[in-house]
Amino acid sequence: MPDKCPICNYACEPIPVLSYNRGKNFNDNSEVVFLVCACPRNDCKELFLVRYKKIYYDADMYSLVGYSPFKYKDIIFEECISDISQTFVDIYNQAMKAEKYNLIDIAGVGYRKALEFLIKDYSIKKNPDSKNEIENSFLGKCITTFIKNENIKLCAKRATWIGNDETHYLRK
Ligand SMILES: [Zn+2]
Repeated sequence: MPDKCPICNYACEPIPVLSYNRGKNFNDNSEVVFLVCACPRNDCKELFLVRYKKIYYDADMYSLVGYSPFKYKDIIFEECISDISQTFVDIYNQAMKAEKYNLIDIAGVGYRKALEFLIKDYSIKKNPDSKNEIENSFLGKCITTFIKNENIKLCAKRATWIGNDETHYLRK
């Protein structure tokens, strides 16, 4: 039995509602069984599908292959981050979901974009008079010019080097 709900992502004991044996797959001779489950948590109570594949034909053993649908919970950032850039939080969470769906190339570009919003929104907060210049400058220049804290500057530069690799045609 599954030990979590793929909709709310909480560990729980899902309630089995219905099972369905699809029978043998002609391609690989595998046998697939579906189980409809309900989440027992009061603030969820969603239905979801669990997929099993028969592994030992003589012993009636099935292994859990996957869930559908499944959702990924957003990462909740501390207020000191979301106050600086809600856009960063939104894009970061989109990139994280792309990564979990194994859309690695999209995730890389997404994280790089999230980083740009975090750094530029932080720079604008610290240098409100230079808003226009910050918005229109390259990220590297923005870091060099507008971030005074040496630790943040160093971290931001390194993250940008790695991030830029995700957006270029050639990896450097
Ligand atoms: Zn649930």
